[in-house]
Amino acid sequence: MVNKKVDFIIVGAGLAGLAISRELHSRGKSFITFDNSSQTSSYVAGGIFNPVILKRFTPAWKAKEQMEISIPFYAELEQELQQEFIHHWDIYRRFYSIEEQNDWFVAADKPLLAPFLDQKLVKNSNPSVETDYGFGRVMHTGNIDTEVMLDAYRDQLQKKQQLIAEKFDYDLVKMDSDCIMYRDIHAKHIIFCEGFGVTKNPFFNYFPLHGNKGEYIIIKSPELKLEFAIKASVFIMPMGNDLYKVGATYNNHDKTPEPTSEAREQLEASLKQVVNASYEVVDQVAGIRPTSGDRRPVVGKHPEFDTMYCFNGFGSRGVLIAPYLAPKLADHILEDSTLEKEIDIARFQKRYFKRS
Ligand SMILES: Cc1cc2nc3c(=O)[nH]c(=O)nc-3n(C[C@H](O)[C@H](O)[C@H](O)COP(=O)(O)OP(=O)(O)OC[C@H]3O[C@@H](n4cnc5c(N)ncnc54)[C@H](O)[C@@H]3O)c2cc1C
Repeated sequence: MVNKKVDFIIVGAGLAGLAISRELHSRGKSFITFDNSSQTSSYVAGGIFNPVILKRFTPAWKAKEQMEISIPFYAELEQELQQEFIHHWDIYRRFYSIEEQNDWFVAADKPLLAPFLDQKLVKNSNPSVETDYGFGRVMHTGNIDTEVMLDAYRDQLQKKQQLIAEKFDYDLVKMDSDCIMYRDIHAKHIIFCEGFGVTKNPFFNYFPLHGNKGEYIIIKSPELKLEFAIKASVFIMPMGNDLYKVGATYNNHDKTPEPTSEAREQLEASLKQVVNASYEVVDQVAGIRPTSGDRRPVVGKHPEFDTMYCFNGFGSRGVLIAPYLAPKLADHILEDSTLEKEIDIARFQKRYFKRS
């Protein structure tokens, strides 16, 4: 039986829904989650946590603060769910020129990047990997196996009768000034954590969420023997058992959920520039990253309905951003604290009133 009176309804059990429901639970709040598996971004994600933008050797947005909150958050969840899903490995950034090596040394001297960028140049010792200029090593990185984590978390929610595996139907929402009613559920608040699915949500589809399709191929290569990840024109990530995730693509135009032959060809062509080992493609996955117009998260209250909230816009960095922002959203809802302007959905308010 569903608990019919709850503090929160949460729509979406991806990385965003997981982070905010955990935060609310830790504050003694009750909730019920809806998810119909219509979006796959959190499931197919590489789950990589890496505070450095490896194109330009610059720190990612608030990455150090995010690492300090998010990695302990996942470690605690690992313990609670009795599942291993945090994997630590280094990223080896392949250099393409002497200039790039020099840029790396300059970046590695900067206080924000010094803890993560190894000062020494790494020579290649793997005969299956091609590089003329060696690698720079990024430390304290790794990935969250999001599939293992989300499956285990959803199992837990199901056992506690906190997950309804159905489409949330916006037409059935009824609102009082201080209460949301959805079928037989009465809640004080609702938080939409729908990723790209929010584009179908009549309450929140006014803010610009463009979405960016990403695809990975999964290869098996007993010959490759990589114990670290490589960042070249593609990212090659070890998954164990001779399996590697290779990707991901970035496509702003295609919003279909299925894997494509174009992406597979593009990824294989890039892979062959770095790796000369034989391999077999054993799988391919796709998802839409929820990328906002200004590439910042979109968090906060509906312009008209005080009981309604949005937690979205995590783009290509949901693993680190979601647990970092969940306490801020919870403070905003429960303690009336102010959200930083750059993430507050209020920055798009004009678009809402123009439309209505
Ligand atoms: C190929 C690829 C690789 C990526 N790699 C990384 C990476 O290495 N590191 C990283 O940090 N990020 C990565 N990302 C980005 C990351 O996946 C996203 O930032 C993150 O998953 C967003 O989480 P979310 O919960 O907001 O959205 P989603 O994962 O899209 O979750 C939304 C959930 O809401 C549900 N939903 C939506 N509408 C409804 C409805 N009406 N009723 C019921 N349920 C609904 C969906 O089924 C879904 O489960 C990658 C993304 C892709 C596509």
